[in-house]
Amino acid sequence: MPFHFLLTSGITFAADEEYLELRFRVLNSLMLVGLLSTGLFIGLDWTGINSLGHRQLAATQANLLLTALLMVALRNRKQLLRPISTTFILVNLMTYTSALIWVTNDELRVLWFHLAVMFSCVLLGSRSGLTMTALSIGLILMAQPLMAPPFTPNALTTLVISLLVTGFGAFTYTRRSESAFERLRMSNIELRALASRDPLTGLLNPRAFGDIANQLIRISQRKGQTASMLFIDLDHFKHINDQYGHATGDIVLRAVAQELGNHTRKSDVLGRIGGEEFLFFLPDTTADSAREVAEKLRLAIQAMRISLADDTQIQVSASIGVSQSLPTDSTISALQRRADQAMYLAKAQGRNRVAG
Ligand code: GH3
Ligand code: MG
Ligand code: MG
Repeated sequence: MPFHFLLTSGITFAADEEYLELRFRVLNSLMLVGLLSTGLFIGLDWTGINSLGHRQLAATQANLLLTALLMVALRNRKQLLRPISTTFILVNLMTYTSALIWVTNDELRVLWFHLAVMFSCVLLGSRSGLTMTALSIGLILMAQPLMAPPFTPNALTTLVISLLVTGFGAFTYTRRSESAFERLRMSNIELRALASRDPLTGLLNPRAFGDIANQLIRISQRKGQTASMLFIDLDHFKHINDQYGHATGDIVLRAVAQELGNHTRKSDVLGRIGGEEFLFFLPDTTADSAREVAEKLRLAIQAMRISLADDTQIQVSASIGVSQSLPTDSTISALQRRADQAMYLAKAQGRNRVAG
């Protein structure tokens, strides 16, 4: 089994789940180290090198068994990270507490609590980390009357203060890394959105349009539905640029994009694929309904009056080609080619019309 698979519990994480993946890796690493160290303690006890006493040996064996079960239970279960982390930490705190009571000749056994405090911040978040710090201190204090000998007041003071220092240190570090990861996640989302948008109109760019429409056409084909495509090309757009300038041309493109967006259903995909060329992908739509949509869009574009600063009003029109998917289309490329050809037919027939 590859190591990577072991650390991620066999889960594939999405790009925006980096912090979750980190927590899985930390938890699985700790559980592996836990299995190794409890195994080592048990082995050293069996060989007589380091005796735990029969009660602590039983507690250590139970710890090993529970850790193995938790590791198996976590496999492929993203939603179980928190309950399993909590259980793992509690099982360990119990083992450390029993060691306080039963392994009286080990003066340093309390050190384990510091690790629990530190890692609970990473695994459960900064706030739960502080709760675990409080719980650790509580367990140590409760174990006091059962310990022979109990910690001296000096040792106890050092212990509580050092646990608080560890707890707050881990709290601060985890809080910072949580917010850093959150910022990273947000900027990744923004970057992905920017990378999928055409900067002039805010519509999907050709790559993003293709990605989404290709996914949808596969779904359509599986369901036995037909999808349609509209190829929209503005008429004589060069004249607008020539007459009013390129910047005004841009204003017109933005206005047309907005108008097209106003007529988009939730399931439709709209993209700008070239200068004054737009594509509409309509899932679960027959050619007849697509022609109706195209006609509505054509009329809407024709009715637009784009006002400039000097009160000039610009009018535009569009030629729209319509195509319908065939059962053999596994991508949008043939559908798009047919819509493009239909658009050229509309141009040839005199422009400002729907063809296909
Ligand atoms: P028709 O489609 O009716 O045959 O004529 P047309 O003038 O629209 O034809 P063509 O496709 O040849 O011209 C498109 C023009 O769109 C050419 C180019 O100057 C302009 N264009 C392309 N991208 C942009 C852009 O981002 N902004 C502006 N303002 N113009 C653009
Ligand atoms: Mg064109
Ligand atoms: Mg054109």
